[in-house]
Amino acid sequence: MEHKKAFLDVAVSICPYCGAPYADASWYVIELGCDVECGACGMIWNLKASEVDRILLEFLLDENGKVIKVKKKKRIDG
Ligand SMILES: [Zn+2]
Repeated sequence: MEHKKAFLDVAVSICPYCGAPYADASWYVIELGCDVECGACGMIWNLKASEVDRILLEFLLDENGKVIKVKKKKRIDG
C-alpha cells in the first residue's frame, strides 16, 4: 500500500549570543525574516541572519492522515 506524504521546509538557526539552536518553518525564517527573543539568554536576534541549515522533512501518513514516520528528505541549499 502506498502511503500519503506531506512535507515541511525547516530552517535551523543558532542564537549568535549563546549558541542555542532553533528549528522553525522556513517561511517564517526566510520569507518573513522574523526577529526572535532567545528563550535561553533573552537576547533579540534575527533568525534569517543566523540560519545555518535548511532541510525538507517528509512525513509518512496512514490512511487517516496520522503521522507514522518523519525523515529528512533532502538538504536545501540557500
Ligand atoms: Zn541565546
